[in-house]
Amino acid sequence: MFKGVPTLANLNLRFLKGNSRIALLLPRGKATATSLDLEDANANPNNTPNTNKINVDVYSEEDLLKRAKFGHTGKQVQQKISSEKKLRTPPLLNLVFANRKLSFYDTSSGPKPCEENAKLNQRRNYSIRPHREQEQRNAEDVLFDMFASEETGLISMGKFLAGLKTTGIRRTDPRVRELMDNLKKVHKLNNYETGSSAETQHLNRETFKAVVSPNIVLIAKAFRQQFVIPDFSSFTKDIEEIYANCKANTSGKLADYIPQLARYSPNLWGVSVCTVDGQRFSIGDVDEPFTLQSCSKPLTYAIALEKLGPKVVHSFVGQEPSGRNFNELVLDQNKKPHNPMINAGAILTCSLMNALVKPDMTSAEIFDYTMSWFKRLSGGEYISFNNAVFLSEREAADRNYALGFYMRENKCFPKRTNLKEVMDYYFQCCSMETNCEAMSVIAASLANGGICPTTEEKVFRPEVIRDVLSIMHSCGTYDYSGQFAFKVGLPAKTGVSGGMMLVIPNVMGIFAWSPPLDTLGNTVRGLQFCDELVSRFNFHRYDNLKHLSNKKDPRKHRYETKGLSIVNLLFSAASGDVTALRRHRLSGMDITLADYDGRTALHLAASEGHLECVKFLLEQCHVPHNPKDRWGNLPVDEAENFCHSDVVEYLKSWAEKSKDAPQECFPEAVTTTTEADEELPTNTTTSVSHSGNTSPIPSESGFRSPSPLSSEAESTASVASVDKTKPGL
Ligand code: GLN
Repeated sequence: MFKGVPTLANLNLRFLKGNSRIALLLPRGKATATSLDLEDANANPNNTPNTNKINVDVYSEEDLLKRAKFGHTGKQVQQKISSEKKLRTPPLLNLVFANRKLSFYDTSSGPKPCEENAKLNQRRNYSIRPHREQEQRNAEDVLFDMFASEETGLISMGKFLAGLKTTGIRRTDPRVRELMDNLKKVHKLNNYETGSSAETQHLNRETFKAVVSPNIVLIAKAFRQQFVIPDFSSFTKDIEEIYANCKANTSGKLADYIPQLARYSPNLWGVSVCTVDGQRFSIGDVDEPFTLQSCSKPLTYAIALEKLGPKVVHSFVGQEPSGRNFNELVLDQNKKPHNPMINAGAILTCSLMNALVKPDMTSAEIFDYTMSWFKRLSGGEYISFNNAVFLSEREAADRNYALGFYMRENKCFPKRTNLKEVMDYYFQCCSMETNCEAMSVIAASLANGGICPTTEEKVFRPEVIRDVLSIMHSCGTYDYSGQFAFKVGLPAKTGVSGGMMLVIPNVMGIFAWSPPLDTLGNTVRGLQFCDELVSRFNFHRYDNLKHLSNKKDPRKHRYETKGLSIVNLLFSAASGDVTALRRHRLSGMDITLADYDGRTALHLAASEGHLECVKFLLEQCHVPHNPKDRWGNLPVDEAENFCHSDVVEYLKSWAEKSKDAPQECFPEAVTTTTEADEELPTNTTTSVSHSGNTSPIPSESGFRSPSPLSSEAESTASVASVDKTKPGL
């Protein structure tokens, strides 16, 4: 049962009297927070009984998506809207909340409407009456209605899958395998009517439901925008832009210590993204194979940690950045390699695999064993082996052999270590072949606490991943690690083949690949990509997620945030809370925002008879005095409807004087307070700079506000004059 509704109803109704109607754009799972907000808003001692009927139309997010994305309004919805307009219905509350439509009646309190207008608010009753038939609609039905053609009554699977792709879910995702298999089966049953592609079929409701039902949980989550990046397509637009910026950067040099690396085109550039919910996006040369090189280091380290635990592993290898080159012939003061992300430490980790993790395995078995871990992490994507690179690595390995001997001399290795086998194993790990696509899934598995997002297989324990990410954070980009941790603030690992594995813990993994390297051995485009990413998004470990920031947070639901702000604003106006309105204004909020039905703060303040709020909105916020809601009502109509004669008089007078006020002229710069401003500390008066005309209605305190006809630019200027960087103002 939809538990939130009665609470919401009781809470809202004071504010919903009149023609109040509000759309709450909330996904599932947010009921608690919303209810709390609303309870606060309702904590008003002035409530008096109100028996207005409240209709609650609960639209699913799918309905909204359908409208917003596919321009597919649906006749029923249109008819409903026009009939509501004719009836000029009493208070309506739309909750875009779940797949239900409910009607129920106000049992809360609030002042009564004028007698003469009471007939507009006739339907009184006290019950909660869910529309059962709607309640029974399941996700498959909703999806069908969302995509089906009104003419044919069939759903185009091509369109459906394209819609799914915009959420980040690909046709090849293992989590929709059953859907794709079912589609092929239906195609076969229909004698391949639509030609070679099963995806171009048009299905009826029953077939569609049967086809999608095995994967409906994931699909419903996708279309409800319940993934970690809800608006995935707008996020990927940013990635495309960053990609293009980096593409233009042609600096850096190819690694040339082996011919296979020297042969790469310096123009190759690919970026793949995989979120912890398995949302995928790729751009550029993402299928081009390259060898893992140092990007294998965190992975072998993870296997060693998983099998031996951190105590054993770190009795052989340290956790400190070396401050030296990745292949420097140096050990720390304990005669251990500094960390597992540089060559010495990685060779040491290989010895642990060889001597401690799988002492009974042959070299060939350990190779297979390691590869199977990599494969599981990548969700079965492309992991292979490049023998030419392996042979070249082994040939050009004087420094690595030197490191091996130096460590053996210093007794760094566990007993029974066969150095030759260890060195070969290290070169084999470096020579594993992959591509950006596969590596982004590996990075995402690290971001996801060791669980592969696409297969949902638990590959590593979360503690292992925490340790791996910690070392990547401090030591992942060779001798640039300190600067990288400072600037980008995320765990990453680069490799000499041009790879950059970036992990945004609990959010996503990104793999950027481009062969040209800087002098420290890091991919030039990869580094630029990371810089630009964290300057756009608040992904840096120490970015503040709560307070004002000029960065985007793609984890948040754009409309959810906006919807909640509107709700807060409208509640403030409806409850006559001028202090809250001032706070909204000072935090830079657009006070002219309207809800789904075009109802503004001014409508609600007027319908509730809050003259101070009305004055504040017009005089201080310079909101237009005559916005029309979806029924064509002005704020003054609301005030009239509910017999708030003082508000009616004020609004009429304002409108009258606005007519006469010349548009170009505004008052001189004023720094003053209105009645509504009395609570402001004396040093925080708002300065509004205009020139010319006075307000049509000077406030009692003598405030001369700008004309209500001031242009949008004027009102923006007045808001901009407040220092938005000080949220506490
Ligand atoms: N194969 C390289 C080496 O051992 C790997 C190092 C790297 O990617 N920086 O020298």
